[in-house]
Order: sequence, then structure tokens, then C-alpha cells
Amino acid sequence: MKNKNAVKTKYLIIGNSAGGIGAAEAIRECDPTGSLLIVSDEPYPAYSRPLISEYLSRQRILETMLFRSPGFYAQHRIELLSGQKVKKIDPANKTASLENGSVICWQRLLLATGGLPIVPNIKGMQKEGVFNFTCIDDAKKIDAYLTRVNSAVVIGGGLIGISVSEALFKRGIMVSVVEMKDRVLNTILDEAASAISGRILSEAGIKIITANTVAEIAGQDRVEYVVLANGQEISCEMVVIAIGVLPRLDLVKGTSIKFNRGISIDRCMATSYPDVYACGDASEGWDFITGSDRLTPIWPNAYIGGRVAGYNMAGRQVEYKGGTAMNSIHYFDMDISSAGLVSASDDNSYETLITNSPYRKLILKDNLVKGMIFVRDIEKSGIIYGLMRDGVNVKDYKQSLLSVDFGLIDLPRDLREKRLGVLTAASRVVPLKEMEEQAIAGE
Ligand SMILES: Cc1cc2nc3c(=O)[nH]c(=O)nc-3n(C[C@H](O)[C@H](O)[C@H](O)COP(=O)(O)OP(=O)(O)OC[C@H]3O[C@@H](n4cnc5c(N)ncnc54)[C@H](O)[C@@H]3O)c2cc1C
Repeated sequence: MKNKNAVKTKYLIIGNSAGGIGAAEAIRECDPTGSLLIVSDEPYPAYSRPLISEYLSRQRILETMLFRSPGFYAQHRIELLSGQKVKKIDPANKTASLENGSVICWQRLLLATGGLPIVPNIKGMQKEGVFNFTCIDDAKKIDAYLTRVNSAVVIGGGLIGISVSEALFKRGIMVSVVEMKDRVLNTILDEAASAISGRILSEAGIKIITANTVAEIAGQDRVEYVVLANGQEISCEMVVIAIGVLPRLDLVKGTSIKFNRGISIDRCMATSYPDVYACGDASEGWDFITGSDRLTPIWPNAYIGGRVAGYNMAGRQVEYKGGTAMNSIHYFDMDISSAGLVSASDDNSYETLITNSPYRKLILKDNLVKGMIFVRDIEKSGIIYGLMRDGVNVKDYKQSLLSVDFGLIDLPRDLREKRLGVLTAASRVVPLKEMEEQAIAGE
């Protein structure tokens, strides 16, 4: 049933972050005037989510975290409805209802709704002093609470856990990280690189507790200590939950839009329902290394996927060539970059090349690069990522790929002349143009 007072828009994007902005920009390249509305339940212009740790450490303010300039929306004739939550979508009637009661009629819809923090079921979770860490409001809440805090426990030793730990440490807080697996950063690094990371964190003064978990958060009304699964108690005034995110699926549940772990999409980012698209952390995109659709919740994949969705929404048919897990991190003055597989399966068709000091590792199959880890000196990792993404056969020069002085010059001429994406620490914030272009086919 269409509502007479409904707002009408040609394009509706739910989510004003990497995916939503990527889509809006692509739409505007193809359709400069079609009405475009972005709705976001966060009350801010798009900002770089990976930088919230620098907000917490007081290295940045919001204005220096913006993903696009303040004039971006007006310049692109984009209407931004921020601080408004979409409660329900009705794909059959092409409407979206907001929590404030208003209704939006759309012709094409993008779900760029991202992820929600995983919240474990731990006794005492409701106590004052327990926080998530996935958005700037989380960082603000933690910041406001820090006056009461000398020590904190971070649950989860993954990317988010390490970034919040470093930020708290920089604010003078004693931090203990409790990780359930036997090593930190276990999803993005192998054992050797995890060991190096763990050592750096410990040497910096972060207490790392692995193969353990928080069984209870205890205290009168607010956090006073935690009890670990082995009975050990750690005194602290704050607990930060940093276990990860899961796709935000509330809007598709109850509709006939298909989802698995994330929203199911094809290579044009179209969902199973006509005129409804999805991208980013909310969706399961194509992974060119595993050859399957899977969750790869990283910023560049969300942005690139958003662009592909936007082109298709505006009628230009392009395909997502795929992304893969790829991380470039910097903490305690240490750079680490990893992508694709970080450990080869037992099957002996994989070949592993390793150098130490600095630690570097490549995983190859049939002379194609399937995974890489670079620790400390990550400058050349961008070239290797390019070879991996482009499926280049490296048989003739694979032994030189890990040498410290390896560079583009070592590649065959035809490859050298081709632009290869450069992956630096900066790409965790703004995906580089080369990567974007090469991840999209048909532009
Ligand atoms: C602390 C932290 C560190 C990170 N570090 C890195 C890193 O170093 N490198 C990297 O590549 N990635 C990193 N990531 C992951 C990266 O931030 C995400 O992959 C990326 O933000 C996903 O973009 P997205 O557009 O899919 O969704 P999101 O950025 O999650 O944005 C989705 C938006 O949609 C809004 N929304 C959802 N549902 C509704 C609704 N019903 N109504 C209105 N609005 C809605 C949400 O509030 C949110 O604003 C990090 C993430 C975190 C939290």
C-alpha cells in the first residue's frame, strides 16, 4: 500500500559509510540528476570507521576522519537523512519505513547496512563500564568514561581488539587483552606473525592472555573486575567487547531477500529481489582466492562493492571481480600486511616461501600467489597483492619475490607496464584508485 505523503526517490541507499558512499559516487557518474537519498542511523557525515581508535587516542577529531569533504553531499545532489533508522523495508511495494513513521518510496534500493558488534553472553554484561567498539559513538562513550578508569580488559585479540587496546594504552590505561584462541590476530596472521605481534604488544606494556575467556564481569553496579574461565580474576574498571562484527540483517529478515551469513548477492551486487542491491559488511561477496562467496568485512571491499552496486543501479552493467581478506595494520610503530590465505592447507599442492628478518611469507598454488604476510617492511606487499589479484603466473621469478630489494623492475616488462595496485598502510583508510579500478570489470 503506497502512502500519499511518502517521500519519493529514484535511489535509496541505507548506510552512509564505505559501501553507501561508493554507490552514491558511482550513481552520480552515470546519472547526474536522478534523486538520491542516503539514510543513516548515525548522526554524522561518512567517516572512516578504522580511524575511531585514533579518535579515542585523541590523535584525531571527527573533522579529520571524514571520508569525503563536508560539501560532498550538496556537490553531488545527495540528500542525507542522518540520525534516522530504517525500521522496515517492503521490496514488493518498494517502500522503506523509518522509525519516526515516515515512508520512503524508492525505485532502486541499496542495503549498505554494515555489521553489528558480536555481543557475547557473559554474566554481568549489563554492568556500567562495558562497551562495544565499532562506531564513533562507542569511542565517545569510552572517552567520557575514562576519567574513572585506570585499567581495562579488552575481550578479543583481533584487529578491533588490538586497535582499541593501543588507543587505551595511549590514554594511559593499563590494558589486558583476553583472547579465546591461542594467539592474537589469529584470523589474519599465521603463527609466526602472531607471535611477533604478541611480543610487540607485550613489550609495549599490554598484557596478553590467550587460550582463555572472560566468564564473568563482576562488581557492585559497575565493572570492578573480571573472572576468567580458569578462575583467575583481573581487576579493571572497564571492559571493551571486541570480538568482531556480524552482518546487519534485520531489514532483510522477514522479506524474501535471500541471505546466508550475509545478504546473498551476485557479481553485480544484486540481491535475489529485483532492484534491491547489497554490498559491504552486510553482504557475502565474491572472494577471488577461495573462489566462493564469503564475508570479507574490510573497508576497500565495501567501497568497491558499493561502486559496483551503484553502477548497476544506475543502469551501467559492471561486475565485481572480487575481493579477498586483506589487512594492512600499523600499531606500536609496527606495520603488518596480509592478504588471502595466511596458512597453506595440508594438501601438498601448496608451496610456502618464507624469509625471516623481516618475516615475509608467500603461499603459492600452481605458481599463482594465493596468500601473503609481510611484517615490518610492507612496502612491496602492494606489488605482491597485485600479482595475487591478477592471477599472474610467477613461476620464472618466484624466488625473487621475497627478496628485500625486490621491486617492479624484477617483473617481466609487460607486467611492469601494467599498473599494479599499491597497498600501503594508507589503504586501510582510503582504497587506492588502482585497486578500485582493477576490482571492477566492465567500467
Ligand atoms: C575499530 C575498527 C577498525 C577497523 N579497521 C579496519 C582496517 O584497518 N582496515 C579495513 O579494511 N577495515 C577495517 N575495519 C572494517 C571496516 O570499517 C568495515 O569493513 C567498513 O566500515 C564496512 O563498510 P560498510 O559500508 O559495509 O558498513 P559500515 O561501515 O558498518 O556502515 C553501515 C552504516 O549503515 C548504518 N545502518 C545500518 N542499518 C541501518 C538502518 N536500518 N537504518 C539506518 N542506518 C543503518 C549503520 O549505522 C552504519 O552507519 C574496521 C572496523 C572497525 C569497527
